[in-house]
Amino acid sequence: MRTLYLSVLLLAVVAAKGQSAAAPLNLFIVTTDGFRWQEVFSGADSSLISNPVFTKDTALAKLMYWAVAPEERRKKLLPFFWNVIAAQGSLLGNRTYANRVNTANLYKISYAGYNELLTGSTDLRIFSNQRKNNPNSNLLEWLDKTEAYHSRVAAFSSWDVFPYILNEQRNHLPVNAGYDSLSATVSVSENALMINAVQDKAINSKTNTRYDQLTFLTAMEYISSKQPRVVYMSLGETDEFAHSGRYDLYLQRANAFDKMLEQLWYMIQSSPLYKNNSVLIVTTDHGRGKNSPRAWKSHGPLVAGSGEVWQAMIGKGIPALGEVKTRDMVYQKELPGFIRELLAREASADAWQPGIYTGLW
Ligand SMILES: [Zn+2]
Repeated sequence: MRTLYLSVLLLAVVAAKGQSAAAPLNLFIVTTDGFRWQEVFSGADSSLISNPVFTKDTALAKLMYWAVAPEERRKKLLPFFWNVIAAQGSLLGNRTYANRVNTANLYKISYAGYNELLTGSTDLRIFSNQRKNNPNSNLLEWLDKTEAYHSRVAAFSSWDVFPYILNEQRNHLPVNAGYDSLSATVSVSENALMINAVQDKAINSKTNTRYDQLTFLTAMEYISSKQPRVVYMSLGETDEFAHSGRYDLYLQRANAFDKMLEQLWYMIQSSPLYKNNSVLIVTTDHGRGKNSPRAWKSHGPLVAGSGEVWQAMIGKGIPALGEVKTRDMVYQKELPGFIRELLAREASADAWQPGIYTGLW
């Protein structure tokens, strides 16, 4: 366990001392595909927002997202990150301070990235995004097998490959992916019917990635109706618009992602079931190119910058370190182990010893 994670856990232990064993901690993991640490920590990139090849209306986009100081720019783009997570949680991966979050997998494509961050391991066999069932077991199914979380785990994704990444066939987790409907057994509310109707009848050209807003509304409806304890939500439009070279739309989708996190966290903190007993972890599956404006469009083993990612977290057990500026490095594959330690410690606040679960994953 890297010192960076350990320091988070050690601080959390100090904060939890004296408390008795609590209800199981609720866990929300949200990812947005291929969103760079550069935009998280510095906001809009001057070479991309000023270039009409990537930004159709550079003047308007700058009014929306530009400022001279990076601290001001990032707050314009991601107000929830910088007004709320920075004040009450921790943000890892600002390489300006040599604080690094890296992918350990060689391929730096989506399936390999999600495999790494959800199973806690890398797998040389996962070198494409093909629809193949993942042989590796993941954090969500592990949690589903525990008494505290059994049948209280659900996943939602814009990308329709997730039933394979999570191997729904093996573990029967509820995975709502692509344009899957919300089933009547989940909810027959007006909202659910409306979401299903929009998906079935109003989307004319369906691609492999559902509109993020529909994924988000689907997840929110499920949460309010089924009250799961573990939710994974995977959004995808940031990567889609980057591949198509639209930096303006990449920024807009990142801004919309921030708004979704704000709504989710507000719902969590105003719900009796979740309030002050939940943790929200936000990250991405891979970075993108960094050495030229054009390089930003893509990612992969040969594109420098693709292995550079970030993590943001807030909630019970997460100390308010804000933007972490210490020189350190953590791999994305360490996240499931970190989460397991955090949940285990919350389940037995006094009995937990730092490091006791290290190596189990
Ligand atoms: Zn991609």
